[in-house]
Amino acid sequence: MIGVAPIRRLPQVVADAIAAGEVIERPASVLKELVENALDAGASRIDIAIEGGGLVRIEVADDGSGIADDDLGLAVERHATSKIAVADDIARVRTLGFRGEALASIAAVSELRLTTRTRDSIGGATLHVRHGDVLTRTPAASAPGTRVEVCELFAASPARLRFLRSVATEGSVAVRVVSDLAVTHPEVAFTCTNDSRVVLRTPGGTLRDAIRAVIGPRATRDLLDVDAPGPIAVGGAIASPHAHRASRSGLVLIVNRRLVHNRALLAAIDESYRGLIPTGRHGYGVVTVEVPADAVDVNVHPAKREVRFSDERAVFSAVQRACWAALRAAPALGADGHLPVAFTNGAFEVRDGDIAVMGMHQAYPPTRPTAMPAGHPAPVGNAATPAALPAMEALGQAGSGFLVATAGDTIVLVDPHAAHEKVLYMELLARWRGDASESSGSQLLLMPVVIECGPDRAARVADEHDFFTRCGFTIEQFGPAAVRCTAVPLSAAGADPEALVAELIERLDERDAGTQERQHRVAALVACHAAVRFGDRLDAVAQQRLLDQMVATPGGTTCPHGRPSVLVLDDAMLRRAFRRSPG
Ligand code: ADP
Ligand code: MG
Repeated sequence: MIGVAPIRRLPQVVADAIAAGEVIERPASVLKELVENALDAGASRIDIAIEGGGLVRIEVADDGSGIADDDLGLAVERHATSKIAVADDIARVRTLGFRGEALASIAAVSELRLTTRTRDSIGGATLHVRHGDVLTRTPAASAPGTRVEVCELFAASPARLRFLRSVATEGSVAVRVVSDLAVTHPEVAFTCTNDSRVVLRTPGGTLRDAIRAVIGPRATRDLLDVDAPGPIAVGGAIASPHAHRASRSGLVLIVNRRLVHNRALLAAIDESYRGLIPTGRHGYGVVTVEVPADAVDVNVHPAKREVRFSDERAVFSAVQRACWAALRAAPALGADGHLPVAFTNGAFEVRDGDIAVMGMHQAYPPTRPTAMPAGHPAPVGNAATPAALPAMEALGQAGSGFLVATAGDTIVLVDPHAAHEKVLYMELLARWRGDASESSGSQLLLMPVVIECGPDRAARVADEHDFFTRCGFTIEQFGPAAVRCTAVPLSAAGADPEALVAELIERLDERDAGTQERQHRVAALVACHAAVRFGDRLDAVAQQRLLDQMVATPGGTTCPHGRPSVLVLDDAMLRRAFRRSPG
């Protein structure tokens, strides 16, 4: 039976824990708040340590202003801040913090020690708070600045813990936040360790320096400067079109030196790449926007993650114009040979001469169409039970593109890249799914490749070591911000290992499904890199071998991404096209 419960005021500790949930969702949120406090305190260096995904321990130490002795107790109280005094201040706020609830929120759900000393006080002090209760306050010897240590985060909030992802993921999300914040204040020197591994070290210099520290030396090669001064000033650096990526997560947006998420602006940046990179791919980089403080409302989200502009359209178009200008200056064709046009997917039609040939997702041989009303193309593709391809005989290659072959009374056109891709893809999957005790078919590289990928990704590669090994790669962390690859799957022997591994690592960012799904993605990636290029000239032997392999490959009529790899022109179709009576 459900009784009527009396309404009661919650004890302060419970109220604090509820409010904390809005600000502190996960270890990364703790880091964001602590680092923002250090930045607001005018620090010139910030040292960060993360342990156990941030759930065991987080420490942020700065050399900023410190907290005056009299204010120390207030710092961990809710709605206590030194940054604003009256409501109007919110509209003009220049500091990152102003809500005065971060320290209180963190202290409510952890064991927190805050040690601080101002420049002109003789000694420092440490405040020890557990689950919102101040336990002790003791004198402490410390250098000027502040050090906050947060232990056992959420240990007393099992509900919150259940919503977290793995320790490794929480740790890397936290590192990512630190890296992004380091870019918002490039003049501050950051170091960050994750389980004692140094994962980030910025020198304290220009924006370029910070980006380079986060992304690695590739930044120099891949990034284009964005520089559009004005009342809405847009800056930063974005990837040139050849360096596109599989996920959108590589874009960092900074508004008035504040790390923000703004869907419209991210879309504006994405949009400026349209037509320059394949659909479904994304640019990456850092875009900074400076607007007058009163043209942006920063008080719309408890964790200050979102901002609202008084004139969003104006900001949107300023960002887009600035990105366009940067991209226009870039070379049109990428180093990896990707055409700077969006892929068109699926069926195509040639209306001329009344031929209508659809994408070949259909069965082979195509069902012979029954009498069609004149002027209407044959509805191919309706009997879509994937059947095996018949044996084919190579006739040649048109230019250095499509292969032309015959099979009985049909003419078959083959996209050699798509076809080879599918062959390799099925081979890889068959091997990986096979007997685990059998070697996964690796090929040692004569020259190991080293890829600078930034500390965050390097650490994730280390975590994914077993999965990569199962797929035939030997990849390990190599220094704080790089990985080294010494072996690739046998089928990838024809690929440029550096480009392949670089993309493999980049894809780690994609939200991961189960192992099977991930193996599919890796197989598709390896196949794409190792397959013959569309423009490669194949000799007669290679042409015939590819056709034979296709026939032996289940589902050989589409590439791993579902695009057609063969076009079958059967006798009935050709007769219709040439207006011959059916044979
Ligand atoms: P807010 O940043 O919104 O003011 P916080 O709860 O994050 O609220 O911090 C409360 C106050 O504690 C700040 O206003 C500031 O005066 C002081 N403080 C917190 N962290 C630091 C730090 N690293 N250095 C100096 N002062 C700090
Ligand atoms: Mg704060």
